[in-house]
Amino acid sequence: MAEIEIRALRKTFDGAEVLKGVDLTIQDGEFISLVGPSGCGKSTLLRVIAGLEPQSSGEVRIDGVSADGIRPSARNLAMVFQSYALYPHLSVFDNIAVPLRMKRLSALERTPFLGRLMPGRRRAERVIRDDVERVAEQLEISPLLKRKPGQLSGGQRQRVAVGRAIVRQPRAFLFDEPLSNLDAKLRVHMRAEIAQLHRQLKTTFIYVTHDQAEAMTMSGRIAVMIGGELIQVGTPSAIYEEPCDIRVAEFVGTPK
Ligand code: ADP
Ligand code: MG
Repeated sequence: MAEIEIRALRKTFDGAEVLKGVDLTIQDGEFISLVGPSGCGKSTLLRVIAGLEPQSSGEVRIDGVSADGIRPSARNLAMVFQSYALYPHLSVFDNIAVPLRMKRLSALERTPFLGRLMPGRRRAERVIRDDVERVAEQLEISPLLKRKPGQLSGGQRQRVAVGRAIVRQPRAFLFDEPLSNLDAKLRVHMRAEIAQLHRQLKTTFIYVTHDQAEAMTMSGRIAVMIGGELIQVGTPSAIYEEPCDIRVAEFVGTPK
């Protein structure tokens, strides 16, 4: 669980300002969508929150503590991308276990040959097996654990990516257009699954999408970003009924 505060956040790439002073407080456990046209800075904002990209100025605070200088893994936020980023050569089981192996094993235990002889590794492997199996059950992918990503459908792959994100019990989820590679029917199905996951985990979800139907149906609040600035933040109905700007009205489809 996490409250995430974004304060006067700016990001410049090669002299071009991509985030122009973003202020936003995301409540612990809320589902907030971040929407806006392609290139407006949504992914950059997520990457800065995750610590994958340093900001140029401003601050991200997680549970009241500045995230400056805190490594991405230590922030314990899970990123789920549209491209799944699964390892093709690893089984579904091993894909989900990746973050657990990184976290639980020492450098020596992680070495392929010597590591196998270490008692710590055998113990850790048992815990890892339990955790992976629990998550697989939750996402209904238990029968797929031995397969490789190439032997899965798009929806199954997406579920494995979600499994890898939830297995280490992150404080918050950062989704970057996770459904945009799926066909329309599957997208609607996965939308319901992600909403269900949020109800189950009660963790903070930040959900980037350019699909207004996704944002309107899934989230408690929507933040609309245009050209590196948040121009409106509110509930779906507030944004639909009182868009602050013609660009927002067009995005959410408010009748003129
Ligand atoms: P969105 O996710 O809303 O489509 P992005 O955050 O990916 O937008 O990109 C915002 C702008 O920042 C774009 O103009 C993009 O070209 C630029 N940008 C993103 N990442 C980099 C990078 N690593 N180096 C240079 N420019 C970048
Ligand atoms: Mg993007």
